[in-house]
Order: sequence, then structure tokens, then C-alpha cells
Amino acid sequence: MHFESPKITIALDGFAACGKSTLARDLCSALNYSFIDTGAMYRAVTYCILQMGLDLDADQHWGGILQSLPLEWRVADGLFRIGLDREDIEDKIRSMAVSARVSEVAAISAVRTFLVHQQQMLGRSGGVVLDGRDIGTVVFPDAELKIFVTADTEVRVQRRYQELKTKGVSIEIGEVRHNLEHRDHIDSTREDSPLQAAPDALWLDTSRLDRERQLQIALTVARTLLDKKGMKPSHSSVVP
Ligand code: C5P
Repeated sequence: MHFESPKITIALDGFAACGKSTLARDLCSALNYSFIDTGAMYRAVTYCILQMGLDLDADQHWGGILQSLPLEWRVADGLFRIGLDREDIEDKIRSMAVSARVSEVAAISAVRTFLVHQQQMLGRSGGVVLDGRDIGTVVFPDAELKIFVTADTEVRVQRRYQELKTKGVSIEIGEVRHNLEHRDHIDSTREDSPLQAAPDALWLDTSRLDRERQLQIALTVARTLLDKKGMKPSHSSVVP
């Protein structure tokens, strides 16, 4: 009798810049899983909308606009890639211009419906780590492991500021603080799928944990779940 190795879905949610995507990438390397960066998808849509000069407050035929965007996302070798007309737009979607408007775009229900569907398609086979704001509550409410990542505001501000400085972005720390607080406010108070911890999520405060320790904690929980799953294979995982 042969058992396929079990694969789970891991949902990481939390406020801006609390280390979710680094943890997601590290978990993917350790478990050989695929990373789905849902924030990058909202950023890519925002980039396109800004390029098109669309007014976010005006009535727009969002369904048609979203369908027509030449965006593509795929997971290759466990890495998440976003392209626009085959051009890599990873740097462009991280600009402050996009960061300043992304939460307004992400509060539009039509945008959420469109992207949630794409995320569910990308992650449907399991063996994935998704990071975002509504993964454990809306995108994959049945994810086996849900972690709500937090960190003190000042720690998050410093981390994002250092990250931007390392990339050569010239920015004042006050602007970084304002952007994080502004996004957190919109993300947690919007009507459609506001940022909140799923009732069954584990909380991980990364304020005083280094990268390795965060990974160690998350991996320990993930491996415990995988061991349990491996002992009780479902019918579909048994190959005669
Ligand atoms: O993860 P990141 O900080 O890059 O996300 C950028 C923005 O995208 C968030 O501030 C939020 O407005 C939006 N977002 C969301 N739901 C997700 C992921 C991101 O609303 N699942």
C-alpha cells in the first residue's frame, strides 16, 4: 500500500509588515510548498487601475475592467510570479504610489470577488501557503493551519523602513508609519471581508522573534498536523 504524502493549506493573515510573506516563503522552502502572495495580486490590480487613471469613487464596470486586464500570476518552482503583458512588475507593485492606494482598491467588492476566485483556483490542490488579510476567514476557511501574525506597530514600521532603505527607496520613516496605519485602518474597517483573525487561528506575535524562531514555531505546528494527517490517509490518497 502506498500513501501519497499529505499536503495541507496554510493561511497567514495579519496587519501590514508583520513578517507574513517572509514566514510564508520560509515555510514553502521547508515544506516544498507553493507560495501565493495575495497582497501582490491586490497590488497588481491597483497598479493597473492607477495606470489607466480610473477614478475609484466613480461608478465603474469593474467586472469588465478586471477581466480585461492582461495580468497573469503563476507559481513556478514554489515562487509566486506576477506579470503584466509578460513584463515582470514585481518592483512596480511595491512602489509607494501603489501602497498608498491599494487598500482603497481592495475595499471594492467586485475586486475582492474576482481575486478571491483566482486565489481559490491557484490553491485548490493544497500544498500551499497563502498570505493576506482574509485567507483563513474567506479564501480558505477550511485551511488546516491558520496563523494570525501580529507585531507591535513600531517594530513593523522599523522593519518596513529598513526594507525600503535596503532597496534604495528614499523615504521618511513618518511616511512609512502613515502608510501602514492608513492601510491597517481601511483593511480592518471595510465592509467586505475586513481583516480579522479566524476564530480557530493561532496567534503569532513576531515583535521579539527572529526569522528562524518564527519559522521553527510555525513548522512545529505544521508538522504535527501533517503527522496526524499522514496517520489517517483519506480514501483518495490511497493508491492500490
Ligand atoms: O500583503 P500586502 O501588504 O502587500 O497587501 C497590500 C494590501 O492588499 C493590503 O493592505 C490590503 O489592502 C490588500 N489585501 C487584502 N486582502 C488580502 C491581501 C491583501 O485586502 N488577502
